[in-house]
Amino acid sequence: MGVDGSIEPIDESKLARCANGDEMEGVKFPKDTLAYKFQSNPENLSENEMREAIVAAFRVWTSVTTIGFLEVSRGEEADVTFDFSTITQTDDGMGPKVVQTINSGNGKIIVFNSDTKWINATPEENSTKTFDLRFAALHAIGHELGFDHSPYSRSVMYPIFLQKRSSLNYEQRDLDEFDVENAKKFYGSMYETVEE
Ligand SMILES: [Zn+2]
Repeated sequence: MGVDGSIEPIDESKLARCANGDEMEGVKFPKDTLAYKFQSNPENLSENEMREAIVAAFRVWTSVTTIGFLEVSRGEEADVTFDFSTITQTDDGMGPKVVQTINSGNGKIIVFNSDTKWINATPEENSTKTFDLRFAALHAIGHELGFDHSPYSRSVMYPIFLQKRSSLNYEQRDLDEFDVENAKKFYGSMYETVEE
């Protein structure tokens, strides 16, 4: 905060972000169940902590879609593979790219940048070095379910990750109204209400 108590503007261009382009064309996930697996672990989280964060992210999407999520072992085929490796940082004046979706011949790979310190907790406000795995997973899984980047900063699909908003309460980082509305486009049936 500034000396007069005002909140200093955040330079969003320096914040951690998704490496995917803004002009993606989202399509509804074509199956009832999304199979996923882990290829590697982050350095500073145990396998259990990593799994906990990813499962928590899946659980959030379960509340607004009709998709089920199933972990399969490394040798099996999966729709989504989670991997921790280096994401090439282009010198574009933007903040660090911490997550990226890659098309492989065999499903998608969600890459979390291995140079980022991933945690399974509320990070320091707007930190560009420490990052909450659950939130990045929530965003990346959103892409798999067909959601593009959102222009609304409160949406989990906003390409720049405003950790500040998230730090208020760990459980409040769930979906914004925009995300819920967006989910209805593809997975609307579960929202049908009974007309009186
Ligand atoms: Zn993204």
